[in-house]
Amino acid sequence: MGFEIRRIEIERKTYKLVKTFRISLGAMSESTVIQIRLILNGGTVGLGEASPSFKISGEYLNSVETALRELSQEFIGEDVRNYRVLFDRIDEMFRTFPSAKSALQYAILDALTAEYGLTPFEFFGGAKRKIVSDKTVGIDDVNTMVEDAKNIKGEGFRTIKIKIDSVDFALDVVPKIADATGNIGYIVDANQALKPKEAVEVAEKLHSLGVNVLVLEQPVFKHDYDGLRFVRERSPFPVAADESLYTRYDAFKLARDGCVDVFNIKLMKSGLSDGMAIVEIARSAGITLMIGCMGESSLGITQSIDFAAGLGYFTYLDLDCPFLHAEDSKYRGYIRDGDELTVLDREEREKLKD
Ligand code: MN
Repeated sequence: MGFEIRRIEIERKTYKLVKTFRISLGAMSESTVIQIRLILNGGTVGLGEASPSFKISGEYLNSVETALRELSQEFIGEDVRNYRVLFDRIDEMFRTFPSAKSALQYAILDALTAEYGLTPFEFFGGAKRKIVSDKTVGIDDVNTMVEDAKNIKGEGFRTIKIKIDSVDFALDVVPKIADATGNIGYIVDANQALKPKEAVEVAEKLHSLGVNVLVLEQPVFKHDYDGLRFVRERSPFPVAADESLYTRYDAFKLARDGCVDVFNIKLMKSGLSDGMAIVEIARSAGITLMIGCMGESSLGITQSIDFAAGLGYFTYLDLDCPFLHAEDSKYRGYIRDGDELTVLDREEREKLKD
């Protein structure tokens, strides 16, 4: 046994996507992540991954990598059993690099739990060994999006997320996808592209057409909390905050001011520390929980699967980023069957480590 951190190694990896993925903020055809190996003095290894997004979070890849490479060394010699103290220090150090927070905090928990033969899934509560994810249709021409949605349904998914970027586009593509896929249930994500009144118009029209919209996600600009509340008070569908929600302070204000019905937590925006705090704020305020992702590989998404499945409080799981990758990391903490993800135990995970 040995709980002190002996070494932390940082490595950059790029994974190609199956096809270019477009949202209202931009497009990507590959995903570059930063992976961490945290080694305890007894040889136990904890893994973690940062998937920074410049367009969404303002995290420039090189900056995140340099910060992780240099600042993580301050944790050499620390005892991972004091994870809460370490999390607070990481919060202060990486305030502007939330994806780095997630990678380092998760690697600490991964090593700590591995030392006991457990996983972070069990640490968080071991609530649900199996969870169900949706899959996303990125912005493309309407016919391609309808075909993509049909294929996603064919793969076994029961909920589809649809990216939109304008009123006209949303009112064209969403009903067509609903027609072609049996109106199964859709999360419509504007990634901030609409004005508040436009968002209400989209919601009202889709509602009058009978489209089964489960959530209208981040309809307006991230700093427009009044706009979010305006939409929420008029929309027939629940409204979610995504880009408006990074820290526990954002969550507190959004909850206090009644801005949204749903929080979309992403560990790449919040790390584990703020992620845990946001969960408790949501539960106190009666806000529904969603978990999402950026461009994580199966290693990185394991962080969110352990968190969401372990806690068990999440109604919507949007953990599809590795499903969009043509290449992937060998390591994963789960197996996938259709839209179902089953969490692996420590012994099964260790076989997948290099
Ligand atoms: Mn979103």
